[in-house]
Amino acid sequence: MAKVFVITGPSGVGKGTLIRALFDRIPALELSVSATTRPPRPGEQNGVAYHFLSREQFEQRVDDGDFVEHAEYSGNHYGTLRSELESRVSEGVPVVLEIEVQGARQVREKMPEAVQLFIAPPSRETLRTRLVGRGTDTPEQVLRRLETADAELEAQPEFPHVVVNDRLEDAIEELVAVVQAELASAA
Ligand code: 5GP
Repeated sequence: MAKVFVITGPSGVGKGTLIRALFDRIPALELSVSATTRPPRPGEQNGVAYHFLSREQFEQRVDDGDFVEHAEYSGNHYGTLRSELESRVSEGVPVVLEIEVQGARQVREKMPEAVQLFIAPPSRETLRTRLVGRGTDTPEQVLRRLETADAELEAQPEFPHVVVNDRLEDAIEELVAVVQAELASAA
C-alpha cells in the first residue's frame, strides 16, 4: 500500500506553494484533486485546481458515500473523493491531500496510517498579511478565514509533524525531509 500524506494548516500559510515545491522535488507524488462548492478563482481549471460542484451535486455525492472526508470551511464545502485516493493507493502511488483541519481529523480516524503534517505560520500577523496580499478574498472573507485560522492553529499539537513556514527554503527542506523519510520507511 502506498503512503498517504495529509498536509494541513490555516489558509494563507503557504500550503499551496510548499506543496508545489514538494512535487518538484519528489515527482513520484500525486495530488488528490478535491471537490468544492467554492466558485473557481480566475485561472482555476475544473478537474485541475478542484472538481467544482454545485451544492446539490456535492450533497448527492455525500449521500452516495463518495467522500473519504468532507467539511464546511468559510461557507463552502470541500471534500476528498474516494476515486482520487483508492486507485492510486492500490497501485502504489503516494498521494498528497491538501485539506483543512476538520478533514485531517476525519482522515486520522479512518486512515490512522496516513502521515499527517501541519504547516504553521511564524505568527498570526504573517497569516493576515499573506491573506490580504494574495488578493483572492474580499475583506470579509479574509476576516472569516482569519477567525477559522485561530481555531486551526490550536489544533497544531495534534500533529506529529509541524513545519513552520518562516523562510520558504527552510520549510521546503523540512517538508521534503519528512516525506522522503516516510517514503523510505515504506520501501
Ligand atoms: P481554498 O478556498 O483557499 O482553496 O481552500 C480553503 C481551505 O479548504 C484550505 O485550508 C484547503 O486546504 C481546504 N481544502 C481543500 N480541499 C479540501 C478537501 O478536500 N477537504 C477538506 N477538508 N479541506 C480542503
